[in-house]
Amino acid sequence: MVLFGPPGAGKGTQAQLLAEQLKVSHISSGDLFRQHLQQGTPLGLRASEFMNRGVLVPDEVTIDIVLDKVLSLNAEDGFILDGFPRNRNQAEVLEDALMRRARGLDKVVYIQVPEPELVKRLAGRYSCRQCQAPHSIPKESLGPEGSAPDLTCQRCGGELYQRPDDRPKAVQKRIQVYQDETLPVLSYYQDRGILAEVSGVDKIECVNHRVLEALRASEPAGC
Ligand code: AMP
Repeated sequence: MVLFGPPGAGKGTQAQLLAEQLKVSHISSGDLFRQHLQQGTPLGLRASEFMNRGVLVPDEVTIDIVLDKVLSLNAEDGFILDGFPRNRNQAEVLEDALMRRARGLDKVVYIQVPEPELVKRLAGRYSCRQCQAPHSIPKESLGPEGSAPDLTCQRCGGELYQRPDDRPKAVQKRIQVYQDETLPVLSYYQDRGILAEVSGVDKIECVNHRVLEALRASEPAGC
């Protein structure tokens, strides 16, 4: 399946939960780039130039790194894609690659969140340097200049930091890029009859429940 939605919709949070519940792999294109950057690879350094500006990393870099991961799984193993595809070309290349393995996507779940809520969420989002889990930190818990000195990841105890692209200037650009380049991909999946929409404005557990319901609705009768 693909988890689709704007930056800040909660795709990463939901994908981590679903991956544990459904015992499938979570593949996040953004996490793959950040892992490369942490390791100082040329690919990571190149990707970060685009990420820090809030624009898409070029397809010739992105597609290979994501498809390598997807195609490294057994054909019968499930996966959750988070942050990919982000434009029509990526959606087409993904479909071709999956069709060659005779198993297409079951579902694309679109998590909808209005823009003012996205901006608010991203301003308070801190991510774990180790496992990348996103955390929502209230303003009063932050130190000078938005530092998060004593805060550690609830999942693995790692250090929390604010992603450079979660700062206000990059956030505006990312939302713009989402509207211009990514949102048109929705009609691609609508045409294939595999798109479900859920509201992402609620507690994490409630959104999780909605996504699971959307997935169940796609199971063949009798399951
Ligand atoms: P994310 O962690 O999904 O918010 O992604 C962070 C940044 O990584 C994005 O703003 C893009 O610069 C880059 N990125 C992630 N996924 C893709 C993708 N599928 N295509 C192009 N760029 C991507």
